[in-house]
Amino acid sequence: MNEYAIKYVKARQILDSRGNPTIEVEVATQKAKGVAHSPSGASKGKEEAIEIRDGGKEFHGRGVKKAIRNIEKIIAPAIVGMDVREQEKIDEKIIAIDSTKNKSLLGGNACIAVSIACCKCASMAMRKEVYEYLGDGNYLLPIPFMNVINGGAHAGNDLAIQEHMIVPIKAKSFSHAIQMTCETYYTLKDIIEKKYGKSATNIGDEGGFAPPLSRTEEALEMIMKAIEENGYEKEIFLALDCAASSFYNGKYILHKEMDSETLMDYYIDLAKVFPIVSIEDAFHEEDWESFAKFTAKVGDKLQIIGDDLFVTNASRLRKGIKKKVCNALLLKPNQVGTLTEAIKVAKLCFENNYGVMVSHRSGDTCDDFIADLAVALKTGQIKAGAPARGERVAKYNRLLKIEEMIGNEYAGKKWKKWGYT
Ligand code: PEP
Ligand code: MG
Repeated sequence: MNEYAIKYVKARQILDSRGNPTIEVEVATQKAKGVAHSPSGASKGKEEAIEIRDGGKEFHGRGVKKAIRNIEKIIAPAIVGMDVREQEKIDEKIIAIDSTKNKSLLGGNACIAVSIACCKCASMAMRKEVYEYLGDGNYLLPIPFMNVINGGAHAGNDLAIQEHMIVPIKAKSFSHAIQMTCETYYTLKDIIEKKYGKSATNIGDEGGFAPPLSRTEEALEMIMKAIEENGYEKEIFLALDCAASSFYNGKYILHKEMDSETLMDYYIDLAKVFPIVSIEDAFHEEDWESFAKFTAKVGDKLQIIGDDLFVTNASRLRKGIKKKVCNALLLKPNQVGTLTEAIKVAKLCFENNYGVMVSHRSGDTCDDFIADLAVALKTGQIKAGAPARGERVAKYNRLLKIEEMIGNEYAGKKWKKWGYT
């Protein structure tokens, strides 16, 4: 048997960081094995690949045994025997069998875990690191966008905006970025505790604090204080993921009701007061018009990212490019369901001068694949939550290790496109 031929595909139910069932897949050849997990979002885009869950009583309906059966009974027989290095062919086969627009037959959660496990198995079979296997020999360590104050669907407070991130663009290296962000995170904890008491330092789904705030200004003021107390005001910038679909209900409901024009002015004013470099999902996922207006107005100064808007989907991205909507995309492989499709979307971004930020999901595991993906694709940006919780630091720890292997290739040194630097 060819030493690269897939020998078996095994799947099992494990838990994600919210205690919800998710999928672990093992793909093995004679001498190598790749293991991958599917993550899961809370603020999902409507057109994301569908996660198949069992329903019924067990795990309150959240089980993934049906998706696992799809892997064992449908996907495995179709790909066993294939050359594990032929990622595109494997993914094309999965896409063809599924044959739906949103992986609703097999489940995006089933497809992505198999797809990534194949990639990891192939890299091991070829005695390469995953980033080496996926890359072209030139690598870039991404700027970590760290969500240090959680709101929206990720936290039990009244902040409408979901993610308040620190962005250590001017760090000297990736490891220096980690040091600076950790120090800022520790100080932020002290500031929150002093102001709101101990219980306010409990953390949300992505490891950021979730104090009882209702206004993003208050969150950003506390973060700026933490940055300044550490003397990093020239090095660390800010970013938001508004996840605006989650506070849209005919109007945008933040601390007060706003229409899209008022919301746009609100963001522009925030970016005048705070050193914001990037805003994700500023409007709800079908509000293309507001995204286009916002991009025309401030797209030369700010990175404007589409997440729920694009859902890592090439046809939605093409529509966005045509309408001049956003200047960057959030890359979440599980939103589309196969690695090949995710990489193609990233390439479409590069060809059209759109930025790419690789991203975790709010429900995640210690699978660190996205760290290698960001380095290999040279996206220069990753978001993987705060520097806390095992599933978040797994990605940052992997990047620290990659830094040892590739040297100081930190993307912050190249960040100039969006101003503020
Ligand atoms: C996000 O919205 O960017 C995010 C990471 O959250 P979720 O995984 O809940 O979609
Ligand atoms: Mg988002």
